[in-house]
Amino acid sequence: MAQKNASELLVVGSVAYDSVKTPEGSRRDALGGSAMYFALSSSYFTSVSVVAVVGEDFQQRDVDVFKAHDVDVSGLVRAKGKTFRWSGVYSTEDVNQRETLDTQLNVFADFSPTLTKQQRRTPYVFLANIHPALQLDVLQQMEARPRLVALDTMNFWIEGQRDALTKIVKRVDVLFMDEGEVRQFAREPNLVRAARKIIAMGPRAVVVKRGEHGVMLVQNGSLFVQPAYPLDRVVDPTGAGDTFAGGFMGYLASTGDRSPLGFRRAIMLGSVMGSFTVEAFSMERLHTLKRNDIDTRFRAFSDISRGSPLRKDQSLPWRGSKN
Ligand code: AMP
Repeated sequence: MAQKNASELLVVGSVAYDSVKTPEGSRRDALGGSAMYFALSSSYFTSVSVVAVVGEDFQQRDVDVFKAHDVDVSGLVRAKGKTFRWSGVYSTEDVNQRETLDTQLNVFADFSPTLTKQQRRTPYVFLANIHPALQLDVLQQMEARPRLVALDTMNFWIEGQRDALTKIVKRVDVLFMDEGEVRQFAREPNLVRAARKIIAMGPRAVVVKRGEHGVMLVQNGSLFVQPAYPLDRVVDPTGAGDTFAGGFMGYLASTGDRSPLGFRRAIMLGSVMGSFTVEAFSMERLHTLKRNDIDTRFRAFSDISRGSPLRKDQSLPWRGSKN
């Protein structure tokens, strides 16, 4: 599929047809996959190139969704067979709880990503949740060490592919995991200690995803916690994590700001982007955002999560003391 100018950001992951049921409704064979959510989210901020596989049944109108966001699809391979399918159901009591009903790998089973010459020079790389050996293979195809490599994974690989996962974790800059996975991977029940153990392995930041409770960023010597943007209606949480990662990486790739404050703003923008995805099924909301939607929510989010820090010349009240 068509070749374009070099992109700032590369994503390798899944493109899927998802069937989901949530307390707010259901969708069958709706457009999904980690690379899809990530690419759309990051495309608002920077140029993105996708590496993924789809089947013969993948609709042209779905390729057009990428194109509408000016995503480079030259690495979107069409293979013989059916597109990857995933289905899940969300709990009626707690929409953060989901059960996977079915995973059909289809063309994804033989996926062996091959980067184009141009893609091998991309400065920012996101390795979405796929087999850790494939993630390593992608990294090894890069011509020079990218400026920043981030990786997402899941309990399935921690349980079944710990050695391969450890190998790639040692080589990335940023690791995304949910809190259970951080504990499981580090074999340490305390979250902060677990994240620090992972940092000692190589990454310079661990982004701990905590669903509706937000995100904790652990870096060497610093901690940052960010709540999730509070919504009064969550329609479909599918893809929130990948959309978050898209906002995070899109910000870093666009600004080049890899300072601790840059990472914090990237975390906030990721949270804002994730909040749009969960407001609707599939790409329904993520597909239609305007610059003003993102800016307005980012400002509102900054307001509601800003505390009242103590200035240097202030102190907290103390019983019996005048200041
Ligand atoms: P999230 O809700 O952020 O965990 O992402 C859900 C997306 O990941 C869905 O769109 C699925 O199609 C995709 N997905 C689910 N299971 C897998 C898997 N084993 N490998 C790759 N992608 C998957």
